[in-house]
Amino acid sequence: MVLILGGTAEARALAAELDARGIGVLTSLAGRVGRPRLPPGEVRIGGFGGREALARWLAEHRVSAVVDATHPFAERISASATRACASAGVPLLRLERPGWRERPGDRWTWVDDLDAAAAAIGPLGERAFLTTGRQGLAAFAGLRAIWFLIRCVDPPRPPLPLRREVILDRGPYSLAGEGELLDRHRIDVLVTKDSGGEHTAAKLDAARARGLPVIVVRRPPRPASEAVGTVEAAVAWVAHAG
Ligand code: NAP
Repeated sequence: MVLILGGTAEARALAAELDARGIGVLTSLAGRVGRPRLPPGEVRIGGFGGREALARWLAEHRVSAVVDATHPFAERISASATRACASAGVPLLRLERPGWRERPGDRWTWVDDLDAAAAAIGPLGERAFLTTGRQGLAAFAGLRAIWFLIRCVDPPRPPLPLRREVILDRGPYSLAGEGELLDRHRIDVLVTKDSGGEHTAAKLDAARARGLPVIVVRRPPRPASEAVGTVEAAVAWVAHAG
């Protein structure tokens, strides 16, 4: 059986491709989202309890290969998978969508983390569209001079910025819809992680069309491992490894 560490559109697509080929697949989700989109094949939900517990789980479930298709900013599970697969002797592939690239007309400021993103907002604007997700919003909670439009999948927990509106939504988003949001809320700066992929890229196009600055949080460093950028390449790896 192949274990996919999921929580992304790529993980779901990979599960569908493997399932359609008759390859036994189980997707693992962290359980962060209230009503997750479930992939084909088997699904388990919740943490494993750390890398040693994950290594035991791999052995007990006779896992032949692991594809870590988690989000580029999910650092801990990737580190855990690297160590667990090494100790259990199970081949590991990282499936990671490429990051976004600046295009002509973009006004991007790259920062290393959410704290640096918060510090970068003030000089750029007063009404910020915050699309970095539900976790880590505390970094923006002390910014009283900024009004925030916060978009996430599930309701965020405090501490949150005082001046804010929260909208609950999940992609994919359209260019027209993103433009309408920016205009309606008179947004003057966008804050995003470098998540990459098409599902949430329309906000960048909408910001470019309006000449708005964008603060982009760089991806965290990750453990060295064999990696591919497409679902097709991951399917080929599984066919070989699994
Ligand atoms: P994280 O910091 O790397 O993970 C924290 C802990 O959650 C891990 O140590 C692990 O618990 C558990 N976990 C994470 N992903 C798991 C999975 N796929 N299956 C089973 N357990 C998992 O991750 P995160 O940033 O909280 O993200 C959680 C999930 O949301 C990930 O699966 C990721 O793909 C998805 N996601 C994250 C973001 C983001 O911006 N971070 C965005 C979109 C989707 P144990 O140590 O107990 O095993």
